[in-house]
Amino acid sequence: MLHFAVIGHPINHSLSPIIHTQFAEQYGISLTYETINTTPNHFINTVHQFFKTGQGLNITVPFKQAAFQLASQCSDRARMAQSANVLWKNEADQICADNTDGFGFIEDLNYQNELYCLKNAEILILGAGGAVQGILPDILNQVPKQVVIVNRTLAKAERLITQFNHDTLRVKQTHQLHTPYDLIIHSTSATLSNQLPDIPKQAINQQTVVYDLSYGMSAQLFKMHAEQLGVKQFVDGLGMLVEQAAESFFIWHHVRPKTRTVLSQLHNTVKKAIS
Ligand code: NDP
Repeated sequence: MLHFAVIGHPINHSLSPIIHTQFAEQYGISLTYETINTTPNHFINTVHQFFKTGQGLNITVPFKQAAFQLASQCSDRARMAQSANVLWKNEADQICADNTDGFGFIEDLNYQNELYCLKNAEILILGAGGAVQGILPDILNQVPKQVVIVNRTLAKAERLITQFNHDTLRVKQTHQLHTPYDLIIHSTSATLSNQLPDIPKQAINQQTVVYDLSYGMSAQLFKMHAEQLGVKQFVDGLGMLVEQAAESFFIWHHVRPKTRTVLSQLHNTVKKAIS
């Protein structure tokens, strides 16, 4: 029996065990997938303990940077993001790291219609945390016209500009947003505490698509906020969650699971949970 887990703090409501169990069923792979809750002080020990018997770990908030730092080998995308959401051991018994969040984000966009094409798009990102760090390399690869980052703590957004050093990338403050964006990516955790980040009306027009990295109740809250501001097209982060998981699954098992049936079941599960 193969053994996998997702590690985070908190972790109780993770959907990853459901997703990976369904992927494994598609290929008749026998595995267990558990959640591990640990504290920052115990993270490194917990990972080494897990790999005494386990084959692969997903990493979530707040350990993605720590996971990248403890790995002996990493992919280009993890190096670009300086954070990792997948760990496994290679044949030389070294811990390897990858970051599949950006892949998951772009893959989910590709399932949507052409409105979501990022080439030449004007993109606004709300937030500058670990998730933005993970998706930015893949977004920049799509050659957008401009990517503006707005974050409550300006210095964190400025750090991303330095890290990625890309001429389409800039930082603004909310009061400096005067023109509409093709895509607004909501990547703050404000809604988890029932708060909402500011979006000025001028940043939205009839064509603006809002992609919220969160899902469930948090996304519902942000969706209502966005619709009140005139947003007509809203996508939540469940698709990204399933696609980044599929890429992890591919790294571990070398086969690509079908994602859309898993996603529609997950949408129903989440809908029931919040109704
Ligand atoms: P981090 O904790 O790394 O970053 C949180 C971000 O939210 C920071 O930019 C922070 O700003 C901002 N923020 C927090 N509270 C507020 C507030 N009250 N008002 C304005 N801004 C606020 O989290 P992540 O980047 O890892 O995750 C962000 C979201 O993305 C979460 O909802 C997470 O669940 C989701 N996510 C979804 C994934 C998916 O597959 N769908 C994958 C990864 C993440 P500041 O810098 O000022 O603190």
